[in-house]
Amino acid sequence: MSENHNKRGRTEREIQQRILRAIFELRMPPGARLTESVLAETFSVSRTVIRLVIARLTQDGILVKKPNGATCIAAPTRAEIGQVLHVRRMIEPVIVKDLSGSYKNLSFSSIEEHLKKEDSARLSGSYGDLVRLTGEFHLHLAKLTGNRFLVDLIAQLQALVCLGVLMYTHTETACPEDEHRQIADAIMRGDKSLAVERMIHHLDHIEQAILSSSKNHVQFSETLKWLSGK
Ligand SMILES: [Zn+2]
Ligand SMILES: [Zn+2]
Repeated sequence: MSENHNKRGRTEREIQQRILRAIFELRMPPGARLTESVLAETFSVSRTVIRLVIARLTQDGILVKKPNGATCIAAPTRAEIGQVLHVRRMIEPVIVKDLSGSYKNLSFSSIEEHLKKEDSARLSGSYGDLVRLTGEFHLHLAKLTGNRFLVDLIAQLQALVCLGVLMYTHTETACPEDEHRQIADAIMRGDKSLAVERMIHHLDHIEQAILSSSKNHVQFSETLKWLSGK
């Protein structure tokens, strides 16, 4: 994949990461509209570069194209998140079962490194980073399968759930501490049924947190208040 360098040396990938971070820190709230020209100006790059970034984020399910042509940050409803988790429950138990079956041939260093990042985000209280990282854990598992179709699918499904966690839940309930580590431990021990059981529990737990929470989708006015530190 080409990394288009522009005159300030900023790559598509960097811009993509910065936009993702802004979304996960709720600086750009779900539902907000993005325009090519504003982003091009903000990052001092051509609209062609921005178009590529938008295409990738749309493919990942973070951005959606509206029928009127506008591009917005995805704002899934609770019901849609329930549907996404339903699909994830069909797929992810199979992923951990397969990985447990071939655990001797796998390298878990990427997972261990990742779990450390989650720990430090939790410790430092950076909630946006934590939510983004907890989604990425599931992507790391999909990558270990070596099946790129699975990776694309999980990339999209986990992104929508992360947005849902940001929109509808409170910090303490949505990112159950230690559950990722317990899933990883079961896989590394090659215990298929335990890995499956823990994955199902984990996805149920997230769904419970999202569906039972009474928090309403964050409003832009709240975001501004949060930004101003009041
Ligand atoms: Zn998780
Ligand atoms: Zn739990």
